[in-house]
Amino acid sequence: MSDCVSNFHELQNLHALKNELSFLKKQISAMQDEIKKAEDAVYLKCTHSWVIDCSNVGEHTEHVCTICGLSKRSR
Ligand SMILES: [Zn+2]
Repeated sequence: MSDCVSNFHELQNLHALKNELSFLKKQISAMQDEIKKAEDAVYLKCTHSWVIDCSNVGEHTEHVCTICGLSKRSR
């Protein structure tokens, strides 16, 4: 009986944690959208000073702006 009660509380705790995680994920997702919009606004207004991004070890060369810190977009 006491095991059952204990399990019930653990289940409640588990559900509470999962609910909180899903809530936080939604907040993160909303914040990522906000950041993307803010980056778009900065990107459009910045005059940009491109340098090769040395931290990027990918196949193709990436350029990063020394003013806004954003990566050069292909489009
Ligand atoms: Zn820039």
